[in-house]
Amino acid sequence: MSRRWLFADQLGPHFLDDRHQPVLMIESKAVFRRRAFHRQKAHLVLSALRHRAAELGDQARYVRAETYREGLRKVREPLEVCHPTSRRARTLVQGLPRVTVLPPRGFITSLTDFAGWADARRGALRLDDFYRFARQHHEVLVAGDEPEGGRWSFDADNREPPPKETDRLDVPGPPRITEDDIDAEVRRDLDRWEAEGIRFVGRDGPRFLPATPAEATARLRHFVRHRLAKFGPYEDAMLAGDPFMAHSVLSSSFNLGLLDPLAAVRAAEQAYRDRGAPLASVEGFVRQLLGWRDFVWNLYWYFDVGYRGSNRLAARRTVPDWWQELDADAVDARCLSDVLAGVRDRGWVHHIPRLMVLGNYALQRGWRPGELVDWFHRSFVDGYEWVMTANVVGMSQYADLGQMTTKPYASGGAYINRMSDYCGGCPYDPRRRVGERACPFTAGYWMFLDRVRGTLPGNARMARSLKQLDRLRDLDEVKAQERKRGDRAP
Ligand code: SF4
Repeated sequence: MSRRWLFADQLGPHFLDDRHQPVLMIESKAVFRRRAFHRQKAHLVLSALRHRAAELGDQARYVRAETYREGLRKVREPLEVCHPTSRRARTLVQGLPRVTVLPPRGFITSLTDFAGWADARRGALRLDDFYRFARQHHEVLVAGDEPEGGRWSFDADNREPPPKETDRLDVPGPPRITEDDIDAEVRRDLDRWEAEGIRFVGRDGPRFLPATPAEATARLRHFVRHRLAKFGPYEDAMLAGDPFMAHSVLSSSFNLGLLDPLAAVRAAEQAYRDRGAPLASVEGFVRQLLGWRDFVWNLYWYFDVGYRGSNRLAARRTVPDWWQELDADAVDARCLSDVLAGVRDRGWVHHIPRLMVLGNYALQRGWRPGELVDWFHRSFVDGYEWVMTANVVGMSQYADLGQMTTKPYASGGAYINRMSDYCGGCPYDPRRRVGERACPFTAGYWMFLDRVRGTLPGNARMARSLKQLDRLRDLDEVKAQERKRGDRAP
């Protein structure tokens, strides 16, 4: 049996054919030299890699090297590797004579099945359409040809604002992680690397994310039993005092390959069938994994290499330093300050702060999508190029002009006010677009629409907003005010 080379995001048992298969793992320092990752992300990746090597014992050959090529020079035997998750790594492995590249693992719908589905579509590719295909193809939450419960999507039921008069959702938090000697060693190494000049962003902190398949499986079980029921209704809601809400906080575990996503989908489905877990919540979770995660993974490979550079809304401004450096203390706007602090302190916030606070603000200000892909990739514990390309370029920044979504995800402060408890403690007022207390999101929304209106005339979903824009009598004032605010922290 050939030795299986495992990258640092291929760490679960499902990346091996046999539990005794010989393994190669290479820890490359150059990856961390190239760009400034979040310190907690570097810790998590190294911790997961070293924990897996310790678990495998003599079965694994663990090589520490500056680069993958240098590491490979120390190994003479033929190798096989599962299809890597970035174009750069794929080019590397495909150019190595002794290495056989196998199909990808760690995703549910294969690249071939996705391409077959996508090729048969005319025009834009849509999540709802793909998700329905995937549900049928993998027979998830279906009864014969029909969707369980009579609907493919319970999205409309899953948009509750947060409960009032509480700062926390009434669910037990994700199980705590206990650090061990491997974490202590990783922390010492990262301190040393920093002293040598390798730069990180964000703050160090106790590891709160699983680094082993066992920790990830325990968190999945706890989520399905105790948190899944509340996930659906509150998946879009935000509370300043409760960053995790009822989210699974498993994205990094799936993206490190610690958990098999189809097994997680089946666990949620089983909770619905055997234990009466609410269908809307189960469907919402399944949609994230079988639907959205696989959709963006497959789009990364399906779209050509130039997709990452798309900038069809002509967003030309450079992402400012306060944002790049996660300087939450420089920001007065409560929502943005809190979310940026979450990125600084944990390298993680759930998908709505990413989309409706961070992505929304960047979209309004016209920051370059390519720089944002890089920022999200480096600053989030679960960020990888395949994750962030379609999520940022297509979903969040609409820089592809609708190849995968129906409209830009731009909104004013009213949306944030409805879906969070942020606005009450903010010096700005979500209803105001001009003046001292003008909410930067509300003013920014109109400024954005005015900037891109020429690019969106045929978009029916934007027609109502553009009509409202036409009726705005103080638009010039809004524009002058926001020009003055520029890219300074609001
Ligand atoms: Fe955010 Fe505006 Fe609400 Fe302040 S008023 S928290 S800036 S949406």
